[in-house]
Amino acid sequence: MAKMFIAGESVDSVTGATYQVLNPANGDVVDTLPKGNADDARRAIDAAEAAFEEWSHTSAEERAKLLFKAAELVEAERKSLAELLCREQGKPFQEASGELEHFHHGIDFYAGLASKVRGAHVPLPAKNAYGMVIRKPLGVCGAIVPWNFPITLMGTKVGPALAAGNTVVVKPASTTPLTTIRVIELVNQAGLPKGVLNVVTGPGGVVGEELLVNPKVRRIAFTGESATGKHVAEVACGDFKRVTLELGGSDPMIVCDDADIAKAVTGAMVGRFWNAGQACLAVKRLYLFDSIYDAFLKSLADKVSRYEVGDGMTRAEKPKIRMGPLHTAVQREEIEAQVKDAVGRGAKVLIGGARPEGAQYERGFFYQPTILENVPDDSRAVTEETFGPLLPVFRVSSLDEALERANGSIYGLGSSIWTKNLDNIESAVDRLQAGNVWVNSLHYGYDELPFGGVKASGFGREHGPEALDYYLEPKGVVITR
Ligand code: NDP
Repeated sequence: MAKMFIAGESVDSVTGATYQVLNPANGDVVDTLPKGNADDARRAIDAAEAAFEEWSHTSAEERAKLLFKAAELVEAERKSLAELLCREQGKPFQEASGELEHFHHGIDFYAGLASKVRGAHVPLPAKNAYGMVIRKPLGVCGAIVPWNFPITLMGTKVGPALAAGNTVVVKPASTTPLTTIRVIELVNQAGLPKGVLNVVTGPGGVVGEELLVNPKVRRIAFTGESATGKHVAEVACGDFKRVTLELGGSDPMIVCDDADIAKAVTGAMVGRFWNAGQACLAVKRLYLFDSIYDAFLKSLADKVSRYEVGDGMTRAEKPKIRMGPLHTAVQREEIEAQVKDAVGRGAKVLIGGARPEGAQYERGFFYQPTILENVPDDSRAVTEETFGPLLPVFRVSSLDEALERANGSIYGLGSSIWTKNLDNIESAVDRLQAGNVWVNSLHYGYDELPFGGVKASGFGREHGPEALDYYLEPKGVVITR
């Protein structure tokens, strides 16, 4: 049985309550673990608060060394961690392994930055006085993580938080806590002082809520749905916590008539169907110029219809399997409802649009990769986030039309344009209402670049040196002789 990790120890919940994590591919029990409550969250918060003073005064060099070592310890267990992630999340083994690799890269990135934090010396008009800007860690940080990329999205919070000298309580999604627990044990084994990094498992409305309301927590980094994010902001900002929100998205991808079609087809395919489409950053609306529409769509449909759907654990032996199940029954029902709504409004199913048939699919939440044409702009597949393997495709006659429709979403996370024309590129980069624009490139979150959204996709940034700014408070100092 898995355990929570609080104050340097693997522990049960105070009540002894437990629950099970199930494999989305076949319903098997992956493991049993503690069902924590507010008291468990308070234990972890208290431990993190007690550890903060000493940890915040360790040298940056020492924190960097610990983080480098932690990344190595996790890397050494990559295969077994990827198997566990595959079984609890549903993503194919190779994708799970890639997620662990991304975690390693991200922790290394912040380990490298730990000793590069700079303040400022400021000349002042007052005689015999000068100013300084020093940067202080905030204290206890709550990291609330969703189920779609449990490890990378935990790393994007824990890496900069620890590098900057904060302590952390992680709240993983209820359905994907197992790999997180093991990774956090390994990071602690690198030599972190007790209480610096903790994980509490249990329902978001109980454990997560305690992180939001507890005055000892000074910073919340949240990734999840926009509706939950709104609640997080309302509660956590109520006692002036620092908050960042990485929320939903409905990324548009625009393909102009001069684009490299083969590359763009791959970009749309991987960009939409990676992780069974359950990604915040994903091609969720595809706008094709009229003159390339038919050829592009034919090529895309040909490739995607060759996808093999199945249990991601078999992928290592059977590399054709490219898409695992959806993570939960609810997730699949939502995609089914969005397809039904679009078809009811006149959309045409080009490929997919149903559950795959066969005995091997009966116990999992599988759904075929689906492409829809003629989808009205007021369909749920356009107005809402589609968090699954569903791609609506639209015909546009100009860049102006494409940009206008691309921007007609409440979301503003990622976006892309595929063209060789510099005017088109500059126009799209300038006008797309999104936190990130990719030009002739897959929607991918690099550790080196700030990542985050505008509009209902949230605020604040993760990744990049910019993420450190959200874990350090500037303090103005005046020195007078
Ligand atoms: P949810 O908002 O349902 O859950 C996210 C996390 O919040 C979980 O750990 C959940 O715990 C917790 N939570 C739920 N209720 C509360 C509460 N009242 N107080 C504190 N914490 C709470 O999102 P999903 O897990 O469904 O994740 C998918 C969403 O995440 C999508 O919208 C996706 O676009 C977005 N996302 C955004 C990214 C970005 O960087 N912008 C990246 C990846 C995903 P529990 O599981 O126990 O309910």
